[in-house]
Amino acid sequence: MHIVFLGPPGAGKGTQAKILSDKLNFPHLSTGEILRKISNKKNSIGLEIKETMSKGNLVSDKMILNIVKQRIEMKDCKEGFIFDGFPRNIIQAENLDIIMNDKNKIINFVIHIDVPEEILIKRITGREVCENCSTIYNKYYNPFPKDGCVKCGKDKVIIRSDDDLEAFKNVRLKKYKEDTLPLVNFYTKKQNLFTFNGEGNSIEISNNIFKFIENL
Ligand code: AMP
Repeated sequence: MHIVFLGPPGAGKGTQAKILSDKLNFPHLSTGEILRKISNKKNSIGLEIKETMSKGNLVSDKMILNIVKQRIEMKDCKEGFIFDGFPRNIIQAENLDIIMNDKNKIINFVIHIDVPEEILIKRITGREVCENCSTIYNKYYNPFPKDGCVKCGKDKVIIRSDDDLEAFKNVRLKKYKEDTLPLVNFYTKKQNLFTFNGEGNSIEISNNIFKFIENL
């Protein structure tokens, strides 16, 4: 099964994709996570990606498509995978169709998570991530515990440099509306897009998504 998560930054795609990946046992492919790992390397590609990400811009389609192509060739992707953060624009979506077509596979469905802008702003500016296991916290709703991460126990937390309010509103959210939102139409036409309200509690949302998949 091949699933794409679609939604604005802060919609909870990462959290939901991770939960679904654990439930269905397909790898969670977050292009943001993959890029953050590469950006920690002190070589020229790492530095270039770091700069692009810190400005809230997208890395080039060519680079991301190469990364994705290599990643889905790996053994763990044989039965399926869950994309989070990819595709990010029409060019990436069209190329994904070509890649999948070459493998005689399809994107089974796209899960679109919809959240009002004011809630996104609170979520994104409060985001904290465990440095060790990438579990996501929020300083307003679910702060990183003083005695360490609930999942791995480590006590180092990262506040992403692309999460400040100005970068979020003027770059990331703007970019989402310009580049990524057109994918809602793109996949609606293909009749494989399903929209979920992403405002509530993450467990309820994941139950709704899982119920929907079970009934397909
Ligand atoms: P995310 O964790 O999905 O919010 O991604 C964080 C950052 O990684 C984005 O702001 C982009 O700079 C970069 N990024 C992630 N996925 C993509 C993609 N599919 N295409 C281009 N850039 C991406």
